[in-house]
Amino acid sequence: MTTDNIISPTQLRDAYDQINERIDQAARRSGRKGKDIVMVAVTKNATPDQIRTLVEMGHADLGENRVQQLTQRAPQLNEFLARKKTLSRAAPQSSLGIPDQVRWHMIGHLQRNKVKQVAPLTALIHSVDSLRLAEELHNYAARADRIVDILIQVNSSGEEQKFGVAAPAVLHLAEQIETMMHLRLRGIMTMAPYSDNPEDSRPVFSRTADIFEDLQKEKLGGGNCNVLSMGMSGDFEVAIEEGANVVRIGRALFGSPPPEAE
Ligand SMILES: *Cc1c(COP(=O)(O)O)cnc(C)c1O
Repeated sequence: MTTDNIISPTQLRDAYDQINERIDQAARRSGRKGKDIVMVAVTKNATPDQIRTLVEMGHADLGENRVQQLTQRAPQLNEFLARKKTLSRAAPQSSLGIPDQVRWHMIGHLQRNKVKQVAPLTALIHSVDSLRLAEELHNYAARADRIVDILIQVNSSGEEQKFGVAAPAVLHLAEQIETMMHLRLRGIMTMAPYSDNPEDSRPVFSRTADIFEDLQKEKLGGGNCNVLSMGMSGDFEVAIEEGANVVRIGRALFGSPPPEAE
């Protein structure tokens, strides 16, 4: 056992390449290509340096599950990117491949009183789990005169999960969201219960993919309902085999947090 889990930039690059390779293989097993799958790098246990390393490699999709970290990190990273941009105007070849902007994904539970802080910083909110939260987001979006992209979080294992809409209630919530002109329903997100065996997640992912198909048949979200966010470090390959096109990866990239941090 080592007491420090700091992953070096080289280790991070290797882990990133390996995960992309595994994503590509799993995508092929499900008749797709690696580029059809979006990896959201979950930075809740990453250092700011690690996040910058990843972004300098050209990675643009980042996920946070805590409001406080999101609201600290998003402005920091934007400043970093703005600086890089200025530098690259002076020496264009110095920052090739760095995205101009990153896309932050809010993947954790969102309280209604945090909507105003979180929504302006995020490209996609994965964790809409109640009508009241959807209404709050819609109010914000209407006032800001913008469209907010959201996923419904589904509790598809039905057991001991704190958050997420029960599977039978998803379609109804989706129809209610459909009436909110400033929200765009992009799809659904789920988390499988923790297990050491990725195969334990397969039935959960398969059921979630069925719900996703039902939503698509209803033509909700104006044809934009095309995101199925499921799979984490321990089970992302199974999730992709079952149809996920967004996976959320933390530990496999940045290492496990020290025990006291979780
Ligand atoms: C932490 C987290 C992840 C990433 O989990 P890992 O096992 O570290 O890959 C994905 N989704 C959500 C909602 C999370 O909170």
